[in-house]
Amino acid sequence: MENRKENFSEWYNEIVDIAGLSDKRYPIKGMNVWMPYGLKAMQNIDGIIRKNVDPLDFQEVSFPVLITRDQLSVEFEHVKGFENEVYWVTRGGMEQLDVEMALRPTSEAAMYGMFSLWVRSHADLPLRIYQIVSVYRYETKHTRTFIRIREIHFFEAHTAHDTYEDAERQMDQYREIWKKISHDLCLPYIIDQRPDWDKFPGAMYTLAFDTVLPGGRSLQIGTIHQYGTNFSRNYDIKYLKDDGTHEYASQTTFGLSERLLAAVVGIHGDDQGLIFPPAVAPVQAVIVTIPSKSVDVLPYARSIFEEMKAAGIRTSLDTRDNYTPGFKYNEWEMKGVPLRLEIGEKEVSGNRVTISVRTGGKRRQIPRSEIAGTVKSLLDEVAEKLRANADAHFRSLSRKYSSLEEMRGAQGLALAGWCGSKECSSVIEEKLELGTLGFNRDSDETVKCIVCGKDGKIAAFSRSY
Ligand SMILES: [Zn+2]
Repeated sequence: MENRKENFSEWYNEIVDIAGLSDKRYPIKGMNVWMPYGLKAMQNIDGIIRKNVDPLDFQEVSFPVLITRDQLSVEFEHVKGFENEVYWVTRGGMEQLDVEMALRPTSEAAMYGMFSLWVRSHADLPLRIYQIVSVYRYETKHTRTFIRIREIHFFEAHTAHDTYEDAERQMDQYREIWKKISHDLCLPYIIDQRPDWDKFPGAMYTLAFDTVLPGGRSLQIGTIHQYGTNFSRNYDIKYLKDDGTHEYASQTTFGLSERLLAAVVGIHGDDQGLIFPPAVAPVQAVIVTIPSKSVDVLPYARSIFEEMKAAGIRTSLDTRDNYTPGFKYNEWEMKGVPLRLEIGEKEVSGNRVTISVRTGGKRRQIPRSEIAGTVKSLLDEVAEKLRANADAHFRSLSRKYSSLEEMRGAQGLALAGWCGSKECSSVIEEKLELGTLGFNRDSDETVKCIVCGKDGKIAAFSRSY
C-alpha cells in the first residue's frame, strides 16, 4: 500500500480500487462503475443529506435527464458557462433530431420552466425541491474517481421565494444544514465566496465549502448559490401579489456530489487503508471468528451478530475459514470498518468479546451483556477521534501569510489579505501558482492586500482539484 502522506495521489487511486469502491476500467474515460461497497457508502451519505433536508420542507423530485437547446439557452450566462461541457444528443434512432438535446449538466434549465407553471401566488412560495441524480459534464482534463469525472452523482436543491430577504434566509439555512452533514462526515472546511469570474454561471454570488486533502490541494465539496431574480426573469417565474401586480421570485440552489465520498476517503484514511466515519460506513462493526478445535464458536458469534443488527448497528459476520484471522483483520482494516469484534475459544469460554478500534488504542475485553451498548459508545468515540484528527490536519494545512515571499511554496490553504481585484489574483496565480478561492466568509477584519497593499479582507488561495 502506498504511503498516504508522501504519495497521496497514488494512495488514493489504489485504495479506491482495492477497497472495492469503484472500478474505472469501464471503457469511457471519467465514467466509472459504482461497486457495491462504494455505492453503499454513497447511499449512506445521501441518507445523511435526506435526513437533514426532508424535515425542512424540501420535497424530493426526479426530472428528465434531457434538456432541449431552447430550454438551456433561456439564461445567457448560464448556457455560456456550460457550453464547453455539455454532451449533446443529436439523433433518435436513424433520425436527426429537429431540436438538439443536452444531457443535464445541472438542472436549472430543466426545472425552471416547470417552476413558472407551478408558482402562481404567494401560497406557492417558498417552493423547495431537490433531487439526487446523475449529471453529465464533458470533462477534458485528467479525470479522477469521485473528484473529476464525466458522470457525477449529484444532489441539487432548488428553491423559490417571494423576496430576496427570504432567499437570503435560505442561504443561511443551507449553511446550518451543511454544518450537520459535515459533522456526520467528520469533515473540516472553510466557506469562501467565489470571485465573480468563478461564480456559478447565472448566480449573483456563490459560496463554496472548501476542504484540503493530504496532498495539500484544496477540494470544493459543496456550493450554495444566490440567484436573486436572474433566472426567474428569464424563465418567467412570478407570483401574484396582494395588490394585483406580479413579482419575480428570488431563487437559490445547493449542490453536493460524490466529492463528499472523495473527501471522506482522502481525509480519514491512513497507510493501512480507509477509515469510515460510522455514519458513512457500509459496515460499522465486523465480527471475525477465530476457528477452534475444541469449541464451536459459530453459534455464539451468530447470536451476537443478531443482537447487534437488532440494535441498529450495521454489522458483518466474517466466518470464512479459508483465510487466517490476521488476513481477515487486515482486509477489514483496509476497508475502513470502524470496529472489529474478535470471537474465538477464549471469548466463548469467558462469555465476552475482544474489540479492536480502527482509529487505534488498545484492544478491549467486553462482557457479553455489555456489547451493544459498548459498540455504540465506541462508534461515537471513533467519530470524535476522526473529527479531532481531521481538524488538526486541516489546521496544519491552513496558514496566514503577510507577504508574497513568505507565501511562496505554500501548501494547503494559504490565507492572506486581498483587495478583490482580478489583477492581484492573477499575480498570485502567476508568481505562486495558487488559485483564488475567494474571500473567507468567517473573517470580516480589514487587512491590506498582499499584492497591492490596498484595504482588503482575508481570502483563501490554493492549488485545487
Ligand atoms: Zn490588491
